[in-house]
Amino acid sequence: MAAPPETPPEDALRARFDLLHRASRAQLEVPLAVRERRLERLAALVREHVDALAQAISDDFGHRSRHETLLLEALPTLEAIGHARKRLARWMRPQRRPVSTWSRPAQARLIPQPLGLAGIIVPWNYPLLLACSPLCAALAAGNRAMVKMSEYTPRTGALFAELVRRHFDEDELWVVNGGPEVGAAFAALPFDHLLFTGSTSVGRRVMRAAADNLTPVTLELGGKSPAIVAPGYPLHKAAERIMAGKLYNAGQTCVAPDYALVPRGQEQAFLEAARAVVQRLHPDIAHTPHYSSIVNDRHFERLQELVQDAGARGARVVPLSQASADPAGRRFPPVALTGLDDAMRVMQDEIFGPILPVLPYDDIAHAVEHVNAHPRPLALYLFDNERERIEQVLRGTVAGGVCVNDTLVHLGQEELPFGGVGPSGMGQYHGEEGFRTFSKMKGVFLQSRVNALSLFNPPYGRLTDLLARLLLR
Ligand code: NAD
Repeated sequence: MAAPPETPPEDALRARFDLLHRASRAQLEVPLAVRERRLERLAALVREHVDALAQAISDDFGHRSRHETLLLEALPTLEAIGHARKRLARWMRPQRRPVSTWSRPAQARLIPQPLGLAGIIVPWNYPLLLACSPLCAALAAGNRAMVKMSEYTPRTGALFAELVRRHFDEDELWVVNGGPEVGAAFAALPFDHLLFTGSTSVGRRVMRAAADNLTPVTLELGGKSPAIVAPGYPLHKAAERIMAGKLYNAGQTCVAPDYALVPRGQEQAFLEAARAVVQRLHPDIAHTPHYSSIVNDRHFERLQELVQDAGARGARVVPLSQASADPAGRRFPPVALTGLDDAMRVMQDEIFGPILPVLPYDDIAHAVEHVNAHPRPLALYLFDNERERIEQVLRGTVAGGVCVNDTLVHLGQEELPFGGVGPSGMGQYHGEEGFRTFSKMKGVFLQSRVNALSLFNPPYGRLTDLLARLLLR
């Protein structure tokens, strides 16, 4: 007998979607205890298997610092879950809203309801965090979810799928692995909400696919996040925080400072400070376990080309460590660039690696102008101790989020919404904003038995005229 034909992945995806979708429609009310148990299981999955997950991520990268996985993926995941668990009962409570004067004594309420089935598409750079943090929001809001992992982290994706199978019911949460074709099929499913984390170009495709189903999207994208060092701010402090933010995960971080703007004349001093920081953080780039590899050869070559292109167009290439590039281990030593212009590719594309362009500016208004002349960034970093000037920069720029006198840490604040603006993203999550993103905040009006609305019924007479005049005043 001939073997049955293999189920095409799209049909398998659709079957899984249907199962979860049916389950979401069969249980519209998802009690607090159910949501808490789901969050607990997600936390347990991470806590109990953190070593295996860190190993899988490291194997996918060639090498990923174990500490980076613990501190930048597992810890913020568990923090997000802990934060949600503590506040969930309050977030779920219906809120009283005032009614308009002419509707009194009616009442109004806002009732958060689960949307149903959420889709989550994950990039490779922080696969654990960027699967679990949106999941935390989706599960807290009472949804079921499907997660699509990146083809660049196949070991992590396979392990995560297996762990989810062990910790969750099959009609509760499901993980799929695969490349762009699976991604495209996934984005075409009629989810109740789709949260995509990844590049701006793929984000466009995801939004196009979602439009066919009128599926609302949250797009967590990337871009070039500037770091402005204000005049008078201690250069060694700014260099330390900028380089730390740049070198976590070897620069493969969506909110890594992309380039630095420093007061004209201080570029050299800044570069020396940056070199000293790199020496201190990673004295032996070639062998230290604390420095992560570039995820694959294509990205390694892309970074080399960015530096070559800038050099060929007249930029000065300033190595920040003595190590030389190691294509086999994909260790890319940190490098700074000066003498840049906008024609260089490194000033056009998101760098996503340990390359730091350093640009001079004449006064803070010019630095702000530079930021505003470019696409609105996911993060803006400002190093300054002068209150007035900080306010001037905050008022004068639009960015997904801002971190003053540090880098990256704003991302770990669950009380702050996280999300880009324009080409760096759309919508937001984390904490209560995440809960709301995955909830239908349903407005309910409760008419009172005694009300004046019959006065507005036709046929309209003098009383209606009088009332209308009063109300329109
Ligand atoms: P990517 O856009 O190439 O891929 C992201 C995911 O989309 C992967 O799972 C991929 O398989 C899938 N995909 C590919 N084609 C698809 C399609 N047509 N339809 C649906 N899904 C598809 O991004 P990446 O290289 O994995 O990640 C790097 C990018 O992500 C950077 O731009 C970075 O700034 C951004 N990023 C943003 C955040 C944030 O929170 N804003 C966080 C991390 C990374």
